[in-house]
Amino acid sequence: MKAKEVLNQMKPYKPGKQIEDVKKEYGLNRIIKLASNENPFGFSDKVKQALPNLSTNLELYPDGYATELRERLAEIHSIDKDQLIFGCGSDEVVDIICRTYLEPGNNTIIAEPTFPQYKHNALIQGALVKEIPLQNGYHNLQAMLEAIDSDTKVVWLCTPNNPTGCLINDVSLHYFMKNCPENVLVVVDEAYYEYVTTSDAPESINLIKQYPNLIVLRTFSKAYGLAGLRIGYGVASESVANLLNITRGPFNTTRVAQQAALIALEDTEFLQNSVDTTNKNKQQFFSYLDDLGLKYYDSEANFVFVKLPTTGDALFEHLLKKGFIVRSGEALGHPKGVRITIGEQEDMNELRDLLAAYLSSLSKEEQI
Ligand SMILES: *Cc1c(COP(=O)(O)O)cnc(C)c1O
Repeated sequence: MKAKEVLNQMKPYKPGKQIEDVKKEYGLNRIIKLASNENPFGFSDKVKQALPNLSTNLELYPDGYATELRERLAEIHSIDKDQLIFGCGSDEVVDIICRTYLEPGNNTIIAEPTFPQYKHNALIQGALVKEIPLQNGYHNLQAMLEAIDSDTKVVWLCTPNNPTGCLINDVSLHYFMKNCPENVLVVVDEAYYEYVTTSDAPESINLIKQYPNLIVLRTFSKAYGLAGLRIGYGVASESVANLLNITRGPFNTTRVAQQAALIALEDTEFLQNSVDTTNKNKQQFFSYLDDLGLKYYDSEANFVFVKLPTTGDALFEHLLKKGFIVRSGEALGHPKGVRITIGEQEDMNELRDLLAAYLSSLSKEEQI
């Protein structure tokens, strides 16, 4: 059997190390996972309390239209309910976009490095992927505009960008949309939207009225802490959402996930607390990095990409033995760095001490 040619050059997604594996491998009983930008504060107690009641009638298919969640989000975002597309995580919405618009002969534009799923899914559809290097962690929007040609179907803007955390501000996004041809779909992936604090952040969803070629992705996996349930969504113009809904599998989100998301939306206290605490811990960690003389990108998300005098793999291996899982930049296209999710304060303090000890132990030869 011969599969698509392109798969010969691709590999299955390699997730961050799993807690149980590391415990076994290193004989540790406590592991702090700061590798996948998960929420260290868990998820809403209101969801926890409701869960036993949500797991009834599992013999029935879920509501494929996700009616209740759809209606609530339409209200929250002041949009029409047919502007929404739900996915098994926003990951699936990325795949649905690729399946809807990309094929051999056309192309798509992404930043480099950025969230890897855009490229991965685009390649599977046979499209050409144009990668435009970031500038000091930020999207080079001008170069991305210049890369657009008559075969370009989709441009991906990840903001805050994973793995750098850099945000595309209001003025820049307006500029991009104004100068982007209207037959090119612009995907603004806002997986970390809830963590953003800067006052010049765009309200991207409001721009869809003006730019029907814009789709904004959001997820319940990060600030809402529901990564395990797999639910995310996109907001687009009705015509784009309609096309995506044709491509979408009929029952792609579970009833448990839909209901949990609905409850999570109402628990604004949990959301605010976890966002505020994360941002406080992030500012403090920034000051630790400053003290250690380490450079990092300007992050508006719940993680920070730290530049290192050694390889990300070396630090990753070292921290693993101490019970900390971070994400080496190697897999993220930036070998001399690590991406660290902002965790609880004590853990970040312990990490600072480990970093300090590690840096001072580095001999000159090891520094590259
Ligand atoms: C984590 C992440 C997602 C995926 O979120 P899911 O909803 O869990 O699939 C999407 N985009 C970016 C940039 C992310 O970092």
